[in-house]
Amino acid sequence: PVVMGIETSCDETGVGLVRDGVLLGEALSTSMDQHARYGGVVPEIAARAHVQSLVPCVRSALDAAGLRPADIGAIAVTAGPGLATALHVGVSAAKAYATALGVPLFGVHHLAGHLAADLVDGEPLPNPLIALIVSGGHTSLLRVGDLARDPIVHLGDTLDDAAGECFDKVARVLGLPYPGGPAVDRAAVGHDRAALAFPRPLTGRTDAPYTFSFSGLKTAVARWAESHPDSDVPPGDVIASFQEAVVDVLTAKAIRACRDHGIADLLVVGGVAANSRLRELAASRCAEAGIRLRVPARRRCTDNGVMIAALGDLLVRAGAAPSPPDLAAMPGAFLDHAQLGLPTPA
Ligand code: ATP
Ligand code: MG
Ligand code: FE
Repeated sequence: PVVMGIETSCDETGVGLVRDGVLLGEALSTSMDQHARYGGVVPEIAARAHVQSLVPCVRSALDAAGLRPADIGAIAVTAGPGLATALHVGVSAAKAYATALGVPLFGVHHLAGHLAADLVDGEPLPNPLIALIVSGGHTSLLRVGDLARDPIVHLGDTLDDAAGECFDKVARVLGLPYPGGPAVDRAAVGHDRAALAFPRPLTGRTDAPYTFSFSGLKTAVARWAESHPDSDVPPGDVIASFQEAVVDVLTAKAIRACRDHGIADLLVVGGVAANSRLRELAASRCAEAGIRLRVPARRRCTDNGVMIAALGDLLVRAGAAPSPPDLAAMPGAFLDHAQLGLPTPA
């Protein structure tokens, strides 16, 4: 069947249409520009934008695929985690479509969606694999088996800020435009990554090999900027040195997790996986360590509807049971399985 995926967990309204691992159509709308003057996503603005954009996105994805609503055979929707009001728009719409079309509904975990992001572009995922999720709200190392069936094992998370959050906050401190991650990426190009030695938090710690911490690094960059108002160090070098500290820690811990678990496949996903230096350093370090690296195309790293459709398609083909019709948004969902809102066993 054609699976329609719906994503509304943050500021992107995404719709994807996938059948048997093949992408048929997609649409994406973002309210990013409306949040710029506040320096961060405003939930009420994001939710209102989803209300306005969702039905047009569904229409445009169907048009792109040359399909009619009656061709849809299943619906997958991000049930959590994310902003409560934003998630609620997608979940309510998904329930309405599923009821109107008489098709099954699958509530899925947003981060499992990130893991499925490039299933439509490439091969099935290796099993098992180590996954590094680096996004605006999460920084986690996971051991992943069969995404549709097996529980996902958490190896480590961040103690404080997520990597994407750190990019965004440091960008703000250094006067770069919103959103910070892509701005840092651009501003660092061609600059000296070794100009300043910013801290690499929790590296070389045997008691916390897979645990991250980024708030101290953020503070270190802010302090340096405050105390060197007339520095000769070019701003691009400061930015490149900060970025290097983040991607150094991320890649070192991910490779360590692969080594410790005897797993030679690494998947890096989430918005920060779009970072060009992270992609470059991960590629060179994985090649050195004999690890196969998989990273989705850049536009599939940030939030989109295709990843949710790809995950739904995987669940449908695995014969997973649909979610109950009273599926609710789960803003604080914990990642232990790809599917959320699973029917409770009788
Ligand atoms: P989560 O997936 O944890 O719920 P989210 O959905 O808000 O968070 P994503 O859309 O997955 O986050 O990723 C957005 C984050 O990725 C932002 O913090 C953004 O700054 C960061 N990001 C996007 N592109 C880049 C880049 N090229 N370099 C660094 N960071 C980037
Ligand atoms: Mg976003
Ligand atoms: Fe995300």
